[in-house]
Amino acid sequence: MTIEITDDAAAVVGDLRVRRALPRRPRRTVGAWCFADHMGPAELAQETDLIGPHPHIGLQTVTWLLDGQALHRDSLGTEQVITAGQLNLMTAGHGVVHSEEATGHYSGTLEGIQLWIAQPDETRNAANAFEHHAVLPKLELDNGAATVLVGTLGTTSSAAKAESPLVGAELDLRSGQTSVPLLPNWEYAVIVLRGELRIDGEPLQIGQLGYLAPGRDELGVESIGTTRAMLLGGEPFSEQVVMWWNFVARSHDEITAAYRSWQHQDDRFVSVSTALPRIPAPAPPWLSSTEL
Ligand code: MN
Repeated sequence: MTIEITDDAAAVVGDLRVRRALPRRPRRTVGAWCFADHMGPAELAQETDLIGPHPHIGLQTVTWLLDGQALHRDSLGTEQVITAGQLNLMTAGHGVVHSEEATGHYSGTLEGIQLWIAQPDETRNAANAFEHHAVLPKLELDNGAATVLVGTLGTTSSAAKAESPLVGAELDLRSGQTSVPLLPNWEYAVIVLRGELRIDGEPLQIGQLGYLAPGRDELGVESIGTTRAMLLGGEPFSEQVVMWWNFVARSHDEITAAYRSWQHQDDRFVSVSTALPRIPAPAPPWLSSTEL
């Protein structure tokens, strides 16, 4: 059993260049994790528009910064500055709208990772929610530490609301060998954010997704110098996930309904109090021009 390595795809979100590690072919989900964009490092001016108001359904957004600050606003009325080392967790449920902006006072480097978790059927049409966690638990490792953002790693659990069995943790490693505790019935993936790792003797570079199939009770990693990496994992997600634009659902019809609500600005998506313009949805490719 060896690690499966997938290259990232370059993409642009708002004003930022990102490395998209998930979803990729053949790997669409890891546990319930369905999206991973490593953004920056980029130089941020005080008034940079990151991304204007846009909707989500059926997912949780997990925002984690390595460097810098940003201002999160959403349709729940949340206005929350996030700084490096803190967690923003937004639960979309039936529908939420958010923007991410410069704080107006911070200028400098911005680097982070934007992750999505597919919500299970029990909660994906339920109410939306937002949590900010300024302090997160750490698990000490042989040659560094893991900060647990969501879920459980070894004996360490985050207080953030997880809706399926999973973990999202940042590994902050010094040079050398480290063992990370895993659950044999879960699948995992590692995304290097800074530095370089070796797993099963294979080098894993910045942006690449290193996928680990179920069957391991520990992960042996060799850090080449100091490294920061995301570890994502969970019970393989058994529900079919259909992703399009900012929506996670089970069918094209569900996504069409969300698309129409956003285009027609009906009451499914509440507006966000911000000066930034809302982002229009592209037309779903499965709709003919008369159906738009
Ligand atoms: Mn978003």
